Amino acid sequence: MDNKSIFPDLQPLTFSGIDSKRPLVIAGPCSAETEDQVLETARQLHHNGVGIFRAGIWKPRTKPGGFEGVGIRGLLWLHQVKKETGMLTATEVATREHVTAALDAGVDVLWIGARTSANPFAMQEIADSLKGHSEATVLVKNPVNPDIELWIGALQRIYNAGIRRLGAIHRGFSTYGKHLYRNVPQWHIPIELHRRIPNLPIVCDPSHIGGKRELIAPISQQAMDMGFDGLIVESHCAPDDALSDAAQQVTPDTLNLILNTLVIRDMNQTTENLNLLRQQIDQCDNELIEVLGKRMRIAREIGQYKKEHSMQVVQTGRYGDVMNTRISQAEELGMNGEFMKTVMEAIHGESVRQQIEIVNGQEEAK
Ligand code: PEP
Ligand code: MN
Repeated sequence: MDNKSIFPDLQPLTFSGIDSKRPLVIAGPCSAETEDQVLETARQLHHNGVGIFRAGIWKPRTKPGGFEGVGIRGLLWLHQVKKETGMLTATEVATREHVTAALDAGVDVLWIGARTSANPFAMQEIADSLKGHSEATVLVKNPVNPDIELWIGALQRIYNAGIRRLGAIHRGFSTYGKHLYRNVPQWHIPIELHRRIPNLPIVCDPSHIGGKRELIAPISQQAMDMGFDGLIVESHCAPDDALSDAAQQVTPDTLNLILNTLVIRDMNQTTENLNLLRQQIDQCDNELIEVLGKRMRIAREIGQYKKEHSMQVVQTGRYGDVMNTRISQAEELGMNGEFMKTVMEAIHGESVRQQIEIVNGQEEAK
């Protein structure tokens, strides 16, 4: 137990009948559509060894007029799934009424969607309705916008309501325009969440990150390589006919194939050689920082020279030459040219900032 955690007494997200040594897998359709679709999908997933069945009953749609979920009658179908297959069930809740109805119907895992976790009023309402239900399991998706504080705040509201079986779901962040991903993963954000709250389980949602079925396998593998605790994946018995998120859903059999080909790396292997390599990385970083410091000192001297000779800080010809040579040198060493461009832009940006300080007389060259 990490005493420094802001959630000191979280309980592990284990479920009876589900192997806690394997990544947690929650799977099922984006939306419950019909009783047949729910039961057929659940039977196939159960047959393939999935232990927790997800289905949205109330669907937050971007625009009105789309399929907004079957509502409360879907809870009866989830109950049927439990009865028939023994699977646990999970659904999205966004209001006090949803929480009460889902808990009354025996839903095992409640998750809070990305549009809801972005809204502190809605989060507080949900948290208040969870008071007195300390046995509930609640997963909080990241808010649609890449704001880690808002995500942590949403989790805190649930924790403060007494929920100890708490976890986070990383489902990517919305952006303007077309991208490879439907919601960009910005992996550094869940990684930072893990750094700040090490005992909080984090599950990855490759379906909403990728937005297309071909991306589920590679995103899931990335999540496993980064040590995520599980996956929540959309799976439908007839994905192309799905009433929501058709392009990102896979059949239970395809999901099974994806899960079986995932490489789950052992976290308990001896780390002696790894430590040696990490020491070398630390050494490289130290050298990099020293060299960068030296480069900035020289840049400031140049700034002084430019000031004395009334020269412009940015000399475009020189900048172009520096960029081109560094990029081709990096490519010769097997690095990506785009990567080196980004690095050089950042370094150059800092040099320019420091030279401007000198030219404007805010600081003397040291
Ligand atoms: C969902 O899980 O179907 C869903 C609506 O997800 P999100 O809140 O991540 O958009
Ligand atoms: Mn969906």
